[in-house]
Amino acid sequence: MSDRFDVVVVGAGPAGIFAARELVKSGLDVAVIDKGKPLGERLCPLKAGMTSSCAHCNPCGVLSGWGGAGAFSDGKLTLTPEFGGNLERYVGRERLCTLIEEVDAAYMRYGDDTPLYEPDPSFAAEVVKKGRGAGLQVIPAKIRHVGTDKSSFILRGFYDELEGKAAMFMETEVTGVVAEGGSVKGVTLGDGSFIAAQAVILAPGRVGAPWVERLAKDLGLPVDSIPVDVGLRLEMPAEWSEAITQQFYEVKVLFDAPTFDDKVRTFCMCPHGEVVTEYQSEWDVVTVNGHSYRDHKTDNTNFAILVSTEFTEPFRDPNGYGAHIARLANMLGGGALIQRLGDLKAGRRSTRSRIERGLTRPTLKDAEPGDISFALPYRHLKDILEMVNALDAIMPGIDGPHTLLYGVEVKFYSLRLSVNGDLQTPIRGLYAAGDGAGITRGLIQSSASGIVAARAITQAMKAKGLS
Ligand SMILES: Cc1cc2nc3c(=O)[nH]c(=O)nc-3n(C[C@H](O)[C@H](O)[C@H](O)COP(=O)(O)OP(=O)(O)OC[C@H]3O[C@@H](n4cnc5c(N)ncnc54)[C@H](O)[C@@H]3O)c2cc1C
Repeated sequence: MSDRFDVVVVGAGPAGIFAARELVKSGLDVAVIDKGKPLGERLCPLKAGMTSSCAHCNPCGVLSGWGGAGAFSDGKLTLTPEFGGNLERYVGRERLCTLIEEVDAAYMRYGDDTPLYEPDPSFAAEVVKKGRGAGLQVIPAKIRHVGTDKSSFILRGFYDELEGKAAMFMETEVTGVVAEGGSVKGVTLGDGSFIAAQAVILAPGRVGAPWVERLAKDLGLPVDSIPVDVGLRLEMPAEWSEAITQQFYEVKVLFDAPTFDDKVRTFCMCPHGEVVTEYQSEWDVVTVNGHSYRDHKTDNTNFAILVSTEFTEPFRDPNGYGAHIARLANMLGGGALIQRLGDLKAGRRSTRSRIERGLTRPTLKDAEPGDISFALPYRHLKDILEMVNALDAIMPGIDGPHTLLYGVEVKFYSLRLSVNGDLQTPIRGLYAAGDGAGITRGLIQSSASGIVAARAITQAMKAKGLS
């Protein structure tokens, strides 16, 4: 490996890939470094049927490698500035809308058969109205569904584009960032070597959020604590939400839970999908998530309900808090926990035979039947139960005994690096993009954030006459 590049991009997820695509256009010498495996070698032993429970791979094959967490993601491209991250606060709504179009077009270059879901306005208005009656704020949006099975075609396309133009180092961990006199100088790798660079983009995703946290401490970078998102994934027969998902694909719903006045929301709806586990090696915890294939449909639909919790100042460890709750669930279940809503409400644990008697067949086979109320704080549980009750107005059946609850789902991006409108940190030449820096929460905005950082670097380098 050369020991000098114009730009080092840490992470080959959507943020890193889109940054690299942009940087090479200006002929810059770019290295993309990722600790995970190349696309074709990425594997989850549990999903591949090689193990009966999460194998605790480090790094996790679901979250790390070419394509980042996007490789096995559901591939829902949310074509709206309303959700999917906080990029608007840095670049403004108008620029964000332009970037969304640009990113969508890039994805469609390799996936032009991807269906677009845009609800019929009168149907959407009806759902919004019904939801409002139950205290729900339904946000209609345009969404494309690439599907977990098709995502790899697109990611392969991006790889082929970059091959020969950027240096790509997989299975290589960046351990530190070196800065001197207020400017970035390069990065250090797991084997102790140093790679010099005039600019570095940190794009390590949620899986890298704890590393970003340590880095911020080491480099004295200011961070903002943002609400930690903790919740459960719900699974139910697909027909209960079919009317809505056929039109919306994913319906985004916000709710102010009455008892605690907390903000609660639906997240990552996967019609006819599967519940999956992911291993967060930094925290040694197994959490749940969901995805769905375009060509292989299950009988179930799943989505998460997340509680965004603001804490009293000073609260400096949102990721640690989320990991602690996940650890409790793991302690009880050895991994993910599963419980029927009816059992939870009746104050009893679920057992394998109770789950088998239920109307919803679990798609995550290795989740351990138990009692989620031993793991999730009362406040979170109460918020979630209140939202499920309200959701019954638009998805009749969901508040019944046969809905399955999987625990826990935690979003480890609850710490935001302080960056300017170019996504540059107070250290000159050190930029941050994507989910790991708390800037985004989804494929489209993480990809767009990579472009923003890359364009700022290109401009700065042109101004210095270096390219
Ligand atoms: C199962 C699942 C389903 C999802 N479904 C959707 C969906 O339908 N729609 C949607 O919009 N979003 C979805 N998401 C979220 C989406 O995948 C992320 O928002 C997106 O991938 C974030 O991109 P990123 O580039 O910021 O980070 P990531 O994609 O997480 O990539 C970060 C990369 O950095 C690497 N890395 C981390 N630390 C280091 C280090 N120190 N050294 C070297 N490399 C490092 C990691 O290995 C990883 O490959 C899903 C996520 C999962 C897990």
